[in-house]
Amino acid sequence: MLAVLAGLYQLSKARSFQVFGELYARVETQQKMVALTFDDGPSPANTPAVLELLARHQVKATFFMVGRNIEAHRELAARVAAEGHQLGNHSYSHTRLVFRSPSFVQEEISRTDALLREAGVRGEILFRAPFGKKLFVLPWLLAREHRKDILFDVVPDDHATQDAALITSRILEAARPGSIILLHDGWAAKPGTLEATDRILQSLKAQGYRFVTVSELLALGTNPAPDL
Ligand SMILES: [Zn+2]
Repeated sequence: MLAVLAGLYQLSKARSFQVFGELYARVETQQKMVALTFDDGPSPANTPAVLELLARHQVKATFFMVGRNIEAHRELAARVAAEGHQLGNHSYSHTRLVFRSPSFVQEEISRTDALLREAGVRGEILFRAPFGKKLFVLPWLLAREHRKDILFDVVPDDHATQDAALITSRILEAARPGSIILLHDGWAAKPGTLEATDRILQSLKAQGYRFVTVSELLALGTNPAPDL
């Protein structure tokens, strides 16, 4: 029994495999394109500064927003959409969606979808599971609705450190064509994240990279085989 639970735990953490549905951790492409993603916002403490930085670099990113933060900061969510960035669904309450009832998970998804629509989002809404967790109920619901669950392959852990040099080097070491880079604009101010984003935009652009939204990246290539 313990072995089974341990196996389920490993499976729930694995970045490129799930039991049902379509999960992306990166895209298989030769083109030098990557997607910047910002999670857990919108946050008045951080999101406006991220928007100004992206505007200065003339780059579009993808923001996986938490429903209750959209509800608290509707104008800010609408501003992110109006500035041409992609908005995705990162659940309503950012609670772990593992071993929850289908109705609870469904409510977390649909409530946030409705808030995103109010903020001006049109077309397909991508989803990102809170804490990158997935198992059974969530993947089954996403598959039933033909929804894509978007994870990441470049994880600088900017929720755990605000050392700009460290965040920068972690991203530059891991980024490759088709990468999905995980950063955070949620909750508190993140000066290290902001500084690192500025540096990697300069550095990767100098290497010939272009920054695109997750949907633009998905349109470029295929989903690589799971690396379990
Ligand atoms: Zn999150």
